Amino acid sequence: MSEFEYTQGLHKLAEGVYTYFQPPGALGGSNAGLVVDGGVSLLVDTFYDLNRTGDLLREIKKIPGAWPVNYLINTHVDGDHTFGNQLVEGAEIIASKACAEEFTRDISPEYYVDFLKRAPTMGKAGKFFLQGLGQYDFEGIRLTPPTRTFEGRLDLKIGGKEVNLIEVGPAHTEGDIMVYLPGDKLLFSGDVVMTSVTPVSWHGPSANLIKAMSTILGLEVNVLVPGHGPIVDKSFAQKLKEYWEYTAEEARKQYDKGISALEAGIALASTGKFSNFPLPATNIANVHMLYREFSGEETPLDKFAILGKVAELLIPD
Ligand SMILES: [Zn+2]
Repeated sequence: MSEFEYTQGLHKLAEGVYTYFQPPGALGGSNAGLVVDGGVSLLVDTFYDLNRTGDLLREIKKIPGAWPVNYLINTHVDGDHTFGNQLVEGAEIIASKACAEEFTRDISPEYYVDFLKRAPTMGKAGKFFLQGLGQYDFEGIRLTPPTRTFEGRLDLKIGGKEVNLIEVGPAHTEGDIMVYLPGDKLLFSGDVVMTSVTPVSWHGPSANLIKAMSTILGLEVNVLVPGHGPIVDKSFAQKLKEYWEYTAEEARKQYDKGISALEAGIALASTGKFSNFPLPATNIANVHMLYREFSGEETPLDKFAILGKVAELLIPD
């Protein structure tokens, strides 16, 4: 897939450009990015808890000119990309306007703490959440929202490097952005691209996920750093474009037949054209997202309730 080894920690991708991997890249195991030039630095995302983010920052501090971080970019609101924000003291935190608004209503760190305390009494769903999230410590996290927002596109200069922030949401969440370095032909895509799991969207619309892939295909990109998983080249965006086109079409057929979202999702996860993607159970979330789109329902999806349904399938009796 690429010459960059997918191992825990910081990896140099180009002069002054780094990524930090957290294999195996499943739930919460996100990638971060770093750009340093001329004594100015930009960090792409923080991690799910203060320990993980502390590990990331310790590595970053070893790179000349990287600390203190001048700009922290949040590609989207999810905790595995933002819950460490408070540790990047003094940085200007930049995200899309839509992402900043989501900070006020997304799942809070306190909710995670409370939820994990209750998990042991929640049967299979509880077991599933403890397996996925039990390794993180959500205590002491202070939600630290963006201090600067934009809509559409924002261009920054990091020393001599041009950095383009490109809004592609609503897609994976309401306010997704990508971080593009045209000089290095390198893209930090955030979670609109994931390579270690089947891509997941809690928001949509599917048309925007497809459009985001077309945007990537229209850029000069040799190195695509996804939100989770190993680096790929941009041909992977073509594969994901086909994934979303196929999944939207199949889900629509099932929706029109009156098949439940859970059943349609299970079918796609087990026998669909892309069921060979890693962790195909995320298809269940995607079909719920698509059904919401088809029905015009405006209430956001209850992520934890849907994951609970997934747990019923994945966790043995
Ligand atoms: Zn993520």
